[in-house]
Amino acid sequence: MVELSVSIWCTMQCNFCCTYCYEKNYDNKQISMSMDTASNVMDYLEKYMEDNGCMKCKIHFHGGEPLLNFEIIEYIVNRMKKSAKSFEYEITTNGSLLDDHKINYLYENNFSVAVSLDGTQETFNLWRKSKLGQDEYKIVVGNVKKLQRKGCFVSARMTVIPQTASCFFENVSSLINIGIKKIDVSFDYENSTWEQNDFEILATQTLRIQSFIRDKCKDIVFSEIGEGIPRELSKCNGGISSFTISCEGYIYPCIFVFGNEEFKIGTVVEGILPSWKKKIKEINQLKMIECEGCSMLPLCFSNKCRLFNYKVNHDYTKPIDNVCAMNNFYKLALYKVRDKIYHEGCDIR
Ligand code: SF4
Ligand code: SF4
Repeated sequence: MVELSVSIWCTMQCNFCCTYCYEKNYDNKQISMSMDTASNVMDYLEKYMEDNGCMKCKIHFHGGEPLLNFEIIEYIVNRMKKSAKSFEYEITTNGSLLDDHKINYLYENNFSVAVSLDGTQETFNLWRKSKLGQDEYKIVVGNVKKLQRKGCFVSARMTVIPQTASCFFENVSSLINIGIKKIDVSFDYENSTWEQNDFEILATQTLRIQSFIRDKCKDIVFSEIGEGIPRELSKCNGGISSFTISCEGYIYPCIFVFGNEEFKIGTVVEGILPSWKKKIKEINQLKMIECEGCSMLPLCFSNKCRLFNYKVNHDYTKPIDNVCAMNNFYKLALYKVRDKIYHEGCDIR
């Protein structure tokens, strides 16, 4: 294994209560990672890397709001400085709790900082709510600018829901205007209010964004442009080359099944169950019967993320309706246009 990728849940607590938050179910749990658990996490990671011939590990600090347990982040990073292995750090934060000390620390330790930001102040205030009922937009944008002035690499983690489909272009432009150079889009597939029309609107909006970036700001990395050509997705490797660790030290294959008892595949004290490797291989080998004959199969998220299928449909091979509709009414439209651009030099504006 060349590289390991691990998400660490520093805390389940959060100072926001965003409308679409996937952590809602855990809201009553005020658990944060203790120093003892963090120490076990680091022992386990070093051993896991040693046993699997892995020299490099990307650690992603998550939550809840991870900055609410910043001491654990410092503890882990400071300890890993003494390790013979190489570590890279990322954090996803709502950006409201950054102060000079935290910004300096993130900068000095070369963190990639992903700030959850969905676009304009109006969009922010509709969906990203502070528990104190405050308008946090200006604070978060002010902190993004402080991070940028310090020299930190800041990306936006943008969640798109049906209600924001029609202002996708406006929201992306607003992020570009505050100096964001990388935008990672996450579609809320679990939202039950998506309609076919929303996906078609999203496709039109995305073509506008692509055209804008191509003409006016080529240095922007926008995840929905990708490399210009559809890419085949690899098989699920959750619980092998990537996994997620809870505040209590439980190990799950990924964020989709985080907190689900059925997918508690080990602990940082006892390690990952030896049977998991065989199980994920078997899951990957199952046939997606409903998808037979679909040309999107090798590119389809429902074919790769079978644990997500299970979470939503209680069946590894039953595709998620919103993923299927997204492919057929959004991705396919983009691929077709890309194909035209690349082969016929078409201008989509
Ligand atoms: S289901 Fe998807 S996100 Fe989860 S481990 Fe597998 S590939 Fe990764
Ligand atoms: S979920 Fe839909 S788009 Fe994906 S492979 Fe199946 S039929 Fe095709």
